[in-house]
Amino acid sequence: MTFQDLQLSEPILRALTKEGYTQPTPIQEQAIPVVLKQRDLLACAQTGTGKTAAFALPVIQLLLNAPQHSKGYKHIRTLVITPTRELALQIDESFAAYGKYTGLKHDVIFGGVSQHAQTIALRNGTDVLIATPGRLLDLMNQGYIHLAHLEFLVIDEADRMLDMGFIHDIRKVMRELPKERQTLFFSATMPPEIAKLANALLQNPVKIEV
Ligand code: AMP
Repeated sequence: MTFQDLQLSEPILRALTKEGYTQPTPIQEQAIPVVLKQRDLLACAQTGTGKTAAFALPVIQLLLNAPQHSKGYKHIRTLVITPTRELALQIDESFAAYGKYTGLKHDVIFGGVSQHAQTIALRNGTDVLIATPGRLLDLMNQGYIHLAHLEFLVIDEADRMLDMGFIHDIRKVMRELPKERQTLFFSATMPPEIAKLANALLQNPVKIEV
């Protein structure tokens, strides 16, 4: 299988060629068609399987299919929640690479640094916000982040967020999410508490395991 077979459009294919990706990994082969069909996804996948592209590529495609930036930014269209600053930065770099020829805007926020630049960057909304849970909740509580118009939610490394004690933050964020959205949920393992969280967040998800 090729990335062309997965129905990704030219600006994305061009970026993948530039990255040196010749063919999709198994999780990408399985996840990309599901996301493009606008179904919710529950994926059991480890780091190193190519899971970032498995959610980033189809989300970029769907954002392009229904552009909003022509009207000027106002909303946050996609939220990716991930446990650590390192992962947040990696995911942000992936969106930068895969979206290089799309003009989509992406921003990243995490704790341990001044929030000022982060709040300025978000003033006009963004196509993709990558966030760690603590700083996300902080900026939401201060009124800098509104998720009422969110279209796509990605939960990355859910089991690690549980281990790090972020589950309550995630549940608080959950209350602010619009009901109508597409949710993609990734975890390496599915202990009962994670299965419960997935169940609360997902609607009739397609399940994949790699
Ligand atoms: P991840 O599991 O998302 O952390 O990705 C692991 C590594 O695989 C990253 O360095 C990606 O850049 C790389 N990668 C992801 N998908 C592909 C692909 N289809 N072909 C080659 N490398 C890939």
